[in-house]
This record gives sequence, C-alpha cells and structure tokens, in this order.
Amino acid sequence: MRTKPLDRLLFTQGGECFFCRQPLPREEASIEHLVAVTHGGKDNDENIVACCQALNTLFGRMSLKEKLTVILKQQGPFHCPARQAAASASAAPGTASTAAAPATALQAVLKGLRKRGNARPRTLDALTALVASLLEQNGFSAKETKDVMARLTRQHYIDVQDRRINAYLLPPSQG
Ligand SMILES: [Zn+2]
Repeated sequence: MRTKPLDRLLFTQGGECFFCRQPLPREEASIEHLVAVTHGGKDNDENIVACCQALNTLFGRMSLKEKLTVILKQQGPFHCPARQAAASASAAPGTASTAAAPATALQAVLKGLRKRGNARPRTLDALTALVASLLEQNGFSAKETKDVMARLTRQHYIDVQDRRINAYLLPPSQG
C-alpha cells in the first residue's frame, strides 16, 4: 500500500511543521515545494516538505533564495505567519515582559485591521497613516508607528512589494 505524500512527510517530520516545528494537524498542513514547480522544482520527496498553510501561501512562487531570505530575516525560532500569536502567548515569562508594551500596541493595530476586512489599505503609505491613527485611538503614541510597521513586516503579517501591499496574513483573533 502506498502512503500519501502529506502523510509520509508528516510522519518523517514527527508531526511538526518543517519550518516552525509546531505540532501540525493534517487538516492544517500543506505541501511546500522548496524549489517551486514553476522554477523547475521536482515533485518528489527530496523537494517537498509539510508546513503550515499560511507559510505556504506566503511563499507562493518565491524562489528558494527569497524563501531563505524570509527565514534568515527572522530572529530566534522561526514562526509561521498564523502561528505567531500562539507562539508569543506561550513564550517564557522572562521574554514576555520586555516585549509586552509594543506587542500590545501591535495587538491593537491587528484588531483594527481585522475589523476592516477587505477595506484595508493597499499601499505602505496608506497603512502607515492608518496604523498611526489606530494607535492614537487605542491610547498609544503615534511614535510607535515605525516599530509596529517594522513588526508587521518582519512577522510577515503583510506581503509587500514595491511599497504596495499584496496581501494581509493576520493571525487569528485571541478573543
Ligand atoms: Zn509552521
């Protein structure tokens, strides 16, 4: 009996996402071609891994070099886009205190963006203006705009190309 590629990958990866190493239920897993098929990548086990769907979506048709850039730009353990919230919630107490203030400002911005649905800004300039106003509405200083924008980019909540925003990859609401 042949096993399906996804089952086989999940088994060899110990049931974890290849990149963020969080437990990965089968229904949330997807097959990522390290070298995309559109770039000549093969559809065999040497070129495929099981990973979180959100990361697979983000990687899209990126070249392997671009994917590695995304991975190397992160500091500390790699977090897939939709796993960020869960990972920071379970962070060690020592690391939580230093990150608390900006993370809260970030949460306020994420909440505001979620509410907007499809009416989110399509350019970095428009988003920067919106982030500043969301911060002020929620009692934060607009001076944090730069920091929040950096986090949105670094944590891949936004997919940006030439100062235009191609996609939002917001983590699920924490209630
Ligand atoms: Zn993952």
